[in-house]
Amino acid sequence: MSNRQTKTDVILIGAGIMSATLGSLLKELVPDWEITVFERLANAGEESSNEWNNAGTGHAALCELNYTSEKPDGSIDISKAIKINEQFQVSKQFWSYLVNSKLISNPQDFIMSLPHMSLVQGEKDVTFLKKRFEAMSNNPLFQGMEFSDDPAKLMEWLPLVMTDRTSNEPIAATKIDSGTDVNFGALTRMLFDHLKSKSVDINYEHSVDDIKRAGDGSWELKVKNLSSGSVERHTAKFVFIGGGGGSLHLLQKSGIPEGKHIGGFPVSGIFMVCNNPDVVAQHHAKVYGKAKLGAPPMSVPHLDTRYIDNKKSLLFGPFAGFSPKFLKTGSMFDLVTSVKPNNVLTMLAAGAKEMSLTKYLIQQVMLSKEQRMEELREFIPNAKSEDWDLVVAGQRVQVIKDTEAGGKGTLQFGTEVITAADGSIAALLGASPGASTAVSVMLEIIKKCFPQHIKAWELKIKEMIPSYGVSLLKNPELIHEVHISTARTLGLNSELHPVKTEAV
Ligand SMILES: Cc1cc2nc3c(=O)[nH]c(=O)nc-3n(C[C@H](O)[C@H](O)[C@H](O)COP(=O)(O)OP(=O)(O)OC[C@H]3O[C@@H](n4cnc5c(N)ncnc54)[C@H](O)[C@@H]3O)c2cc1C
Repeated sequence: MSNRQTKTDVILIGAGIMSATLGSLLKELVPDWEITVFERLANAGEESSNEWNNAGTGHAALCELNYTSEKPDGSIDISKAIKINEQFQVSKQFWSYLVNSKLISNPQDFIMSLPHMSLVQGEKDVTFLKKRFEAMSNNPLFQGMEFSDDPAKLMEWLPLVMTDRTSNEPIAATKIDSGTDVNFGALTRMLFDHLKSKSVDINYEHSVDDIKRAGDGSWELKVKNLSSGSVERHTAKFVFIGGGGGSLHLLQKSGIPEGKHIGGFPVSGIFMVCNNPDVVAQHHAKVYGKAKLGAPPMSVPHLDTRYIDNKKSLLFGPFAGFSPKFLKTGSMFDLVTSVKPNNVLTMLAAGAKEMSLTKYLIQQVMLSKEQRMEELREFIPNAKSEDWDLVVAGQRVQVIKDTEAGGKGTLQFGTEVITAADGSIAALLGASPGASTAVSVMLEIIKKCFPQHIKAWELKIKEMIPSYGVSLLKNPELIHEVHISTARTLGLNSELHPVKTEAV
């Protein structure tokens, strides 16, 4: 038993993109606050934030069909897409600030321009896509989106997808060139390097095993040093639980009432990776399709060009699956041990409601490689099995809670910020839209947890994020300004093509 004990202003649990972002924001706002980080793995960005564990989409709602829905009157609701797009603009502005201030270097090591496309087949879905395009392309946030149902145009956009396509079904796509591929693993590592250079105390191979409120209102953490086996005690006035899938257990240990009646449902992921450079070279886009009937929104299939380790790759997936682990490197007992007296009814209600989802996920786990190839052939008709390998992606723990709209045990597909009433502890649960929205989600935590400082910090926040507190949608000129300035700094495509429509 070690007697290592520290007292700091802030403890960040977990070295993923969320802690990296919160730590970087706080270091700019209050450079003299002491920050300590505990991470159970040997490096930063090894779990969900790792480049091989997520899809690397800069989610700006440019291509993800599940962010827009058809209303009963047939019109398209794009409000969720607007929110997600605005959140991504916030991330881009903060990353630009970090680059301009030389706090992180070469942006091309973590972000690249890449067209974002939506692809659908069949009369009904083509009609939906056309209506969606009409609703979005009139909106300044989605300026430059193009639509086509002309096979010749689609062949130009998507040669790999259109070659050898024999089906006579109508097919259509939208394309927007302001999309991005983001290497969140590289970004996380860059941010932790920056934090280290600012004297943040980063402790790898340290697992937080318990969190208790101390008599003076601060938080005392029991931390196991995994390399020496010793147990340490660390205290902080503010704790952020950024443990990804590990956050729910830690939140439960804190005992705060806000963390009760919440459960987690793990969904695993598998990607197919192309190992044939000739095939990789024929594709240059992120192409999102429609989720299959009964599939959860996070398993929407997509065919993505990716830039990993400065190399162009091609990934397809993710195939969803079921594993009781809450982290890819977690335990088979994670799901069982997350069931507590205060959430058992919520969990049971969700179990009863989500039988078909569980069945779907188990069926997905059982798919053979050839069955997965068949799904891939819906995108690349002539895909050859020997060109593709399977890789296991990260775990996503979806939040289960009781809601007014959905009743007891409702599965949530977004992220949930849980904070104690006094703002001394905050946790992030859920995984979607995930890393892309890290900056706005962490700003939300700052606003909720440090209300006494926010006025004084506002000027600095606006310096980092010029659109902070302003609706971009209501300020088309600001959208243009943000688009041009972030594109210039981050080395992204700054052209906003005039809207072109084909056969609309
Ligand atoms: C298959 C898949 C595809 C995705 N695609 C996208 C995408 O295209 N775009 C996007 O924006 N987002 C995507 N996401 C979501 C995104 O990856 C996550 O939202 C994001 O990485 C979460 O970051 P985090 O810091 O909260 O968690 P993580 O990156 O998981 O980091 C949490 C860290 O906490 C550590 N930890 C846990 N418990 C403890 C403990 N007790 N003590 C110490 N350390 C602990 C873990 O080891 C881990 O390193 C995807 C996720 C998955 C799984």
